Amino acid sequence: MKQDSPRQLGLAQALSAQTGAAFALRNLRLPLGTVPGAGLPAAGDGLLAADMVIAKGRIDWLGPPASRDDLPAGPDMAKAMAWPGTVDCHTHLDKALAWPRSPNADGTFDGAGASAFRDAAAHHGVEDIRRRADFALRTSFAHGTTAIRSHVDSGRHAFEQALATLSELADDWRGRIALQLCPFLGIDEDLDWIRKVAARAGREHAGILSVFVHAIPELDAALDAVMAIAGREGLRLDFHADENLNPASKGLDAIARAVLRNGFDQPVLVGHCCALAVQPRDTLEATLERVAKAGIGIVSLPLCNAYLMDRRGGETPRYRGFAPVHEMRRHGIPVAIASDNVRDAFYAYGDHDIPELFRDAVRMMQLDHPLGDWAAAVTTTAADLMGLPDRGRLDPGAPADLIIFTARNWSEFVSRPLSDRVVLRGGKPIDTTPPDFRDLDDMKGMRI
Ligand SMILES: [Zn+2]
Repeated sequence: MKQDSPRQLGLAQALSAQTGAAFALRNLRLPLGTVPGAGLPAAGDGLLAADMVIAKGRIDWLGPPASRDDLPAGPDMAKAMAWPGTVDCHTHLDKALAWPRSPNADGTFDGAGASAFRDAAAHHGVEDIRRRADFALRTSFAHGTTAIRSHVDSGRHAFEQALATLSELADDWRGRIALQLCPFLGIDEDLDWIRKVAARAGREHAGILSVFVHAIPELDAALDAVMAIAGREGLRLDFHADENLNPASKGLDAIARAVLRNGFDQPVLVGHCCALAVQPRDTLEATLERVAKAGIGIVSLPLCNAYLMDRRGGETPRYRGFAPVHEMRRHGIPVAIASDNVRDAFYAYGDHDIPELFRDAVRMMQLDHPLGDWAAAVTTTAADLMGLPDRGRLDPGAPADLIIFTARNWSEFVSRPLSDRVVLRGGKPIDTTPPDFRDLDDMKGMRI
């Protein structure tokens, strides 16, 4: 059982007691970048000070502390940080949590691909996918996430059942987590298959086609073909590109050129972009200029990529493979940060816990000093890149889906595991205990 700290237990009880009536949360700290409206006073690096009123499950009012003398009753939050529900814009729910039966023998990208392929072939039936993905959704919900984008492949033989199963789960979870499903294929697959998957991406799903890009001789022509098909179907595009440390890898640049060449006008999101970290500065700058011009968004997956990139089998990694996110933001490119794989062959660890991911991203990618509005990368910007303008923000009128931490500033936030958080959905505290790992022990092949 998770132990609540006395203070947090008191807070959850105090908030539960408010059910039904309007109540105030006084003296909060809100991360910069999560509050669209201006008018709140700054409270140090990357934080705003605010009082909040919650009524009928929604954020009813936000304003400077002690600026209203008619606030309804409610606790003094003593500078506790309140986040909007987080947004995880790049995951793989069909692969998640298979580690105990299909680990990665050597921790490399190639080892991951081989193990994931074998796992899908051997195990990806309807019930198998449903149980693992539902576990991932319950975990995400307990940690405070309100929206998830998942790529879906499971190999051609299991693709239909993976998509149908996750689609049913998306319906089951509607109202708690907005789950966007993106059928996922390789850029070098045959055009008939790409057309078929594109048609499935549009019909009854989120309208997003997901494409893995790697170096092939006719990459430009292949990207033109994908954009022509996506354009006809009215699909957005989501790419995996440059997930390697080869300076010659130019997937992101090829995508930006293709967007500009084809006049592709639907939103495009590109994940990974690790190779840019080892390219000469002028190459990087030229690529980022094109990416900005093409209106492309980027999602960095730091936990998964720190695990896979520059693995040297017993030697210490020299390069960490993070997308150059600071340089991207300087070019005005929207940047999100997301989970990617969780406890499968591509990443042995993780828990779909976005605040925990953000802590690690701050520490590993030096998002600090100043930290500024980086919290937007896992809230507002991530929601915008998913096309969900009502998620991931503290906005009067929005559902009161909040995560409240005892931390009062970034030093306190990054220093502790954040397991004492209170998650509000529609203004009411939920059970933040994640599901027990033992729930999946009886699945075929799992070895604990
Ligand atoms: Zn991915």
